[in-house]
This record gives sequence, C-alpha cells and structure tokens, in this order.
Amino acid sequence: AIAEPVLSVNNIEVIYDHVILVLKGVSLTVPEGGIVALLGANGAGKTTTLKAVSNLLRAERGDVTKGSIVFRGERVEALSPNQLVRRGCIQVMEGRHCFGHLTVEENLLTGAFTRRDGAAAIRSDLEMVYSYFPRLKERRQSLAGYTSGGEQQMCAIGRAMMARPKMILLDEPSMGLAPQLVEEIFEIVRQLNGNEGVSFLLAEQNTNMALRYAGYGYILENGRVVLDGDAATLRENEDVKEFYLGIG
Ligand code: ATP
Repeated sequence: AIAEPVLSVNNIEVIYDHVILVLKGVSLTVPEGGIVALLGANGAGKTTTLKAVSNLLRAERGDVTKGSIVFRGERVEALSPNQLVRRGCIQVMEGRHCFGHLTVEENLLTGAFTRRDGAAAIRSDLEMVYSYFPRLKERRQSLAGYTSGGEQQMCAIGRAMMARPKMILLDEPSMGLAPQLVEEIFEIVRQLNGNEGVSFLLAEQNTNMALRYAGYGYILENGRVVLDGDAATLRENEDVKEFYLGIG
C-alpha cells in the first residue's frame, strides 16, 4: 500500500514583493515516514518552497498566490509559523541559526517552547536528543556561538526534535561542512527518520549525498520541478549525472 502523504504541495505559485514570481507551479509529496530530497542549483527555489510550507515566507514579503498545501490532511496556507510548529511541522533554516549567546542545552530547550506536557517529558526528550547527538551532550554547557559549524547544525536539528515534530523541513544541512561531517549528520537524520518516525523534506545542493539518504527526489530549476523520481532512478539519470553529479 502507498503510504498516506504527510505533506502535499499542489501547484503552488510564490511571489515576493507582489512582483517577483519565484515558484511557478511546484507540486511535491512527502509520504508518511519518508525522506524526500528537494534538489537544484542556487536560486532554483528550494528555500522558498520550504518557507511556503512552514509559513515563514510572509516575513520576507512572499505570498503563496496559487495552489494549496496540505499537511496531515489539513490545508495550512493560512496558518502562522507557530501554528505549523504546534501541528508538528518545523523548519531548520539554512545557516543553522542557533542562539550564539545561549548554551547548547538552552538552545535545545528553546525548541520545546510550544509544548504543554511538562518538565519531565521535556527532560526525557533532551536525553533522547543527546542519545542521537552525543557530541551535543559533551558540549551542552558551551555557548553555541563557540561550537563548530557541524555542532551548530546538530544543535539546530536537535532543537527541532525538542518540539516532537512529525516533519522537519531541513534546509541545506551540508552547507559549509566537511564531507565526513555531512555524512555523520545525514546518518543521524536517517536514524531519526527510522526510529522516531520523523518525515524529512530535505533541500540540498549536494545532490549526491542527498540521493544516498532520500527515498525520492525532486529537481527544481527556475521555480519549476523539471524531474522527479526514486532516488535510485535519479542517480542513474543521464541529465542528473551530467548536471548535478558532475559525472557522465
Ligand atoms: P539557495 O541555495 O540559495 O537557498 P534556493 O534554491 O533555495 O537557493 P531560493 O532561496 O528559494 O532558492 O530563491 C529563489 C529565487 O527567489 C532567487 O532568484 C532569489 O533571488 C529569489 N528570492 C529569494 N528570497 C527573496 C526575497 N525575500 N525577495 C525577493 N526575491 C527573493
């Protein structure tokens, strides 16, 4: 049986500042429990797509002017980012955005701000996060601003996990990190997906790495999906090899 989609984006158009048409009819689906990669060059519209889903667009004067977005059976275009978080959809922004002047642990705790289930549950989720990210446990008393880029990326994902999400929109986790560290982070994403049931929509320029961890991928060019398919199929596609994997 085909899994129920946790997210479906249906033919959305996004315009910035009332004039700049950036997404020209983007559709995609994330199955329940899936990892889906959103691929494409710098400027193709990946971040805009994620922000359309999480409703972080408005802060940048962007609007979804056409189409619909359905998260767990509910139309969500009119909700606030905060309401999306409460429903279990969290974006981890590109560039990591930890609070540099807070400790790693304080950063993680900020992720629990929407929860009403008490200190014990939050404590236990903190331990859950540390079990996936032992490095964060070691660094828990350090100011996040003084930790490495990889640790900050882990901290940003860990903080998202503290909200008990159903889905994480993960924007360019590989950015600026050494390949081995990227591998480490993707490996943890895979575990969170498998063990905690979190679905991922993963925007990445690192096509090769993303297609090794995702089940399915969409390639965006200039605000449109130009190709989509199973990760294995995309990896063998001649155009993908030539333009995105640098082989062929
Ligand atoms: P990147 O890897 O740089 O994040 P991307 O594929 O995520 O690339 P977007 O950031 O979604 O691409 O940008 C898509 C297009 O929208 C680009 O042409 C960009 O200049 C434009 N754009 C992004 N944000 C805004 C904004 N706030 N106002 C106007 N135009 C914007």
